[in-house]
Amino acid sequence: MDRMSDELLIIGAGTAGLSAGVYAAASGYRVTVLEMAGTPGGLCATWSRGGYTFDGSAAGLAGSGPGAPLYRMWKELGVIGRCPLRDPESFGSVRLSDGRTVTVWTDIDRFEAHFLDNFPRDARAVRAFVGALRACLRFDMPLAGEPRGAGPSALSTLPVLLRYGTLTLRRFLEGLSDPLAVEAFGNLVHFGGTDVPLLTVLLPLAYAHRRMTGIPRGGWISFARAIEARLGELGGRVLYGARVVRLKIESGKVRGVALADGREFPADRVLSAADGRFTRSLLPGGSSDGAEFDPRRMSDQPVQVNLGVAEDWSEYPGPLTWLLPDAPSAAGRPQHRLTVHHRCYDPASAPAGKSALMAFLESDYGFWKDLEADRARYEAEKRRCADIVVQAVQRFRPGFAGKVEVTDVSTPRTRERYTGNYMGTMQARKPDAGMIRTLLRGAARYDDPGLDGFWRAGQWVEAWGGITTAAQSGRNAIRAMCRRDGVPFAPGLRGDAA
Ligand SMILES: Cc1cc2nc3c(=O)[nH]c(=O)nc-3n(C[C@H](O)[C@H](O)[C@H](O)COP(=O)(O)OP(=O)(O)OC[C@H]3O[C@@H](n4cnc5c(N)ncnc54)[C@H](O)[C@@H]3O)c2cc1C
Repeated sequence: MDRMSDELLIIGAGTAGLSAGVYAAASGYRVTVLEMAGTPGGLCATWSRGGYTFDGSAAGLAGSGPGAPLYRMWKELGVIGRCPLRDPESFGSVRLSDGRTVTVWTDIDRFEAHFLDNFPRDARAVRAFVGALRACLRFDMPLAGEPRGAGPSALSTLPVLLRYGTLTLRRFLEGLSDPLAVEAFGNLVHFGGTDVPLLTVLLPLAYAHRRMTGIPRGGWISFARAIEARLGELGGRVLYGARVVRLKIESGKVRGVALADGREFPADRVLSAADGRFTRSLLPGGSSDGAEFDPRRMSDQPVQVNLGVAEDWSEYPGPLTWLLPDAPSAAGRPQHRLTVHHRCYDPASAPAGKSALMAFLESDYGFWKDLEADRARYEAEKRRCADIVVQAVQRFRPGFAGKVEVTDVSTPRTRERYTGNYMGTMQARKPDAGMIRTLLRGAARYDDPGLDGFWRAGQWVEAWGGITTAAQSGRNAIRAMCRRDGVPFAPGLRGDAA
């Protein structure tokens, strides 16, 4: 590649943009990532208030343990080695309406014994669930283009993938006879309701059992900083406060970008790893409409309530869900349950003996967009959201309200403002019953048929969102770019280093 043509500009230093940056730099491109915010990570954000540190993402990294094909990617990206990970003991606990608390242990034997003990009437369903979980232990999410892909293990689990990739959690619940078992299984998923394929519950649980869903200590910022450091090591750079507003195009070819502050950057290749609607709007005649941006499809977006409390929650092995039979109203919706995540496993997240808590309330984007016109009402509703959470926890932990030292509420509009994601969406698309078809059909399209030199990656390009998806998306996009340019794709690790 000559000096001009090896330049690659990447829009967005979220997981996908950083990942694309690492693979491109390792493959010989001169990489500049342009990020409008002041820190890396995008939706994988971490922020501090009054001595407490909160995260904008919840679960762990799929395939983060040795032996998983994806482990190689996390090593290539510099996450393994730089970002300490913690494997959770539990996916969460649910306090049932009869006062019992059941825990979804990540150890399958322990989970099976615990659920059989609590729900003997549904022993058959519990065994079927656990059987499917054990079958999923043989499945590994493949790393595209690597010899150790899905392989024979995936073939042997194909029947399970097909069955549980199309059976929704809702249908599974309909087969249960004990209403308390419905409460327990129905709250396995913390976001997005029960219309998701059961596979989206089974696969993370199977990985967690294998100790392959590491959660970054130090918050998601330490994950993003680790990839940023790897990028720097490979000669790439990230510029912050750099909001891209326009593509420069000549004779149907990309020539660079223009920033909001008037700066211009020349390049023959631009990869957008930013919000999909924004990316579309960059294209000549690009409209930001389209079925994939149908507001009705995206309107469900949670509100995040963060609390800093002067009490220790480390007694809970994971997130805790309480059912709220009176369904108090906040954020424009009745709240039927409350899930509270804590970060006690990370001593840096709160002063000694105190806890950083994060709860998510059901909500929708339009509610906040409308409220925003009246700032006082918007702020009052945010306070109400915090109050609802505090009052709900207080019911189960008397004295809690008096120990709250910090409250911080982020709405879908907050996420939209900070990350540019349309409607503040946390996952551009959710997996649905078509996920198996998509898994089998393979890769998304990363180049643009109408504009030479324009590429894209990230959650908006893929069939569903998530951190692992975004990281893979960046990797896949650069593989495709290398293929197009006749450049060897160099993931950055040699021999047995993976
Ligand atoms: C509350 C919450 C919980 C979540 N829980 C999970 C979970 O449990 N598991 C999971 O896998 N995923 C989870 N996710 C989703 C996951 O975080 C995202 O799917 C993933 O991080 C998306 O990565 P991305 O790189 O595609 O996009 P983003 O993270 O959105 O990155 C895009 C970047 O582009 C930048 N940008 C946008 N426009 C411009 C511009 N014009 N110029 C310059 N820069 C720009 C943004 O600032 C941002 O940094 C969660 C998300 C949230 C919010």
